[in-house]
Amino acid sequence: MHVRNTRSALLPLVALLLMITTPATVHAVDGNAIYLANEGVLVTHGDTKIAFDPIFRNGFGQYLLLPENLETALFAGTAPFDGLDGVFISHFHGDHFSPSDMISLMRSLPELLLFAPAQAVMAMRQEGDISELMGRIQQVSLEYQEAPVQIEIDSLLVEAIRIPHSGWPESRLDVENIAWRVTLDDATTVLHLGDADPREVHFSNDPEFWQRNQPQAAFPPYWFLGSRSGREILEQRVGARASIGIHVPIQIPADPLQRPPELRAADLFTNPGESRRIRHAE
Ligand SMILES: [Zn+2]
Ligand SMILES: [Zn+2]
Repeated sequence: MHVRNTRSALLPLVALLLMITTPATVHAVDGNAIYLANEGVLVTHGDTKIAFDPIFRNGFGQYLLLPENLETALFAGTAPFDGLDGVFISHFHGDHFSPSDMISLMRSLPELLLFAPAQAVMAMRQEGDISELMGRIQQVSLEYQEAPVQIEIDSLLVEAIRIPHSGWPESRLDVENIAWRVTLDDATTVLHLGDADPREVHFSNDPEFWQRNQPQAAFPPYWFLGSRSGREILEQRVGARASIGIHVPIQIPADPLQRPPELRAADLFTNPGESRRIRHAE
């Protein structure tokens, strides 16, 4: 009798716990990714917002630039950029980053944090005195195969690892290309790979790093999705639930059937403003 009473008293508590952990509750706070241009992506989870490689001036005739309406909204801090918490720079190349525009953006948005490789911060310093901005800049300086860096600020868990720029091992070895794995609100984890080289060797020496925080969404340059080794890295090393290709040249169309065969099955960002829901559960 005593045991039965205890069980019935516990039932409402068990029911409450089930409600709290039900997948439907998780779905209600899915993240979202909006494509900007080239490797620019805006990621949101609730009120937490970050942007990767949002402002640059050189498309080399091959890549899209940020459309004017999105640029205006970015600098004004209006939707979809309202409440933008942080900007992440993959590397200092002109199709990802503009030092003078990054300075202007930080002056326009006085709460904005910047996470960037030292090479990019150096380029900003060469534009003039930015000492008043340094308190909001998190600069990472990493060598190839050096242990990843972890930074926790407000609602962001930031992990940075240097993955060589495409062209490895022949060229661009000096470029500090940072892969940023960022968790928003302890909930949505995304990985932005910059212009990473798609070889297994860059991802195989630290399996524990890749396994401990697998992203719901990865944003690899499209060449990962067009190569077998790139796809295997995303699925088996990185453990990404979904991958959306970025850095897509303008001659590769949105229509999968019109693409080169190796890219027909890939999910690619091709139209600025298009978005993907970042799902937490199946
Ligand atoms: Zn590059
Ligand atoms: Zn690039």
